Amino acid sequence: MAEYLEFKGTGPMRLLTPNLRLKSIYDLPIPWLKERRVRAILTDLDNTLVPWRDYRVAAELADWFRTLHGEGFRTVILTNARPSPTIKEMSEELQTELVVGARKPVQRFFRRALERVDASPVEACVIGDQVFTDVLGGNLMGCYTVLVERIGRREFFGTKIMRLLERRVLGRLDRFRVQNEGVEGDASR
Ligand SMILES: [Mg+2]
Repeated sequence: MAEYLEFKGTGPMRLLTPNLRLKSIYDLPIPWLKERRVRAILTDLDNTLVPWRDYRVAAELADWFRTLHGEGFRTVILTNARPSPTIKEMSEELQTELVVGARKPVQRFFRRALERVDASPVEACVIGDQVFTDVLGGNLMGCYTVLVERIGRREFFGTKIMRLLERRVLGRLDRFRVQNEGVEGDASR
C-alpha cells in the first residue's frame, strides 16, 4: 500500500509545492492519478528512475513502466541530461518516449514532452527528485507534480547548490499538507 503526503500550496510557495511527496516512483498511487484523470507521466531520469548517470534498466523499473502502460498511461522521460546512445537505448527498452537535452524548468521542454504523449497539461503528472527543475517546471506548466526522494547521493555540482535552497523550501511545506487520513488506496480528500 503506497503511502504519500499530499500538499496544496498557496501564495508564493504555490509553484514550489508538489502535489505529492513520495519515497520513490514505486509508491506512485495509480488510483490517485486516475481520480484526477491523469493519463500521461512525464518523468525525470537521473536520481528519479536510476542513480545519477547509471543508465541500466533494473527489472523493477521495467515492471513499473509495464504496469503504467498496462493501466493506460503514456509515458515520457524528460531529462536535462545530454543526448546519449545509452539513454536512447534505455528509453527503447522501457518503451517510453524521450526528451533529452532539456533545460527544466523551461516550459518549452515540458510542452515538447506533452506533445510526445499527446496530453494536455492537466492530463499529465510530472515526477522528479528536484524542486527547482521538476516541480517548478511542472507547476508552471499546470501539470500535477510529484516529488520523490533522490535515489543516490551523487549528482551534478550545480544541483548540490540548489539542494541547499531546496532544503529551505521543503522545510516550509508542512503547512500546505492536505489532511488525508485514509490514504490507503482511497485517495479521496
Ligand atoms: Mg533528477
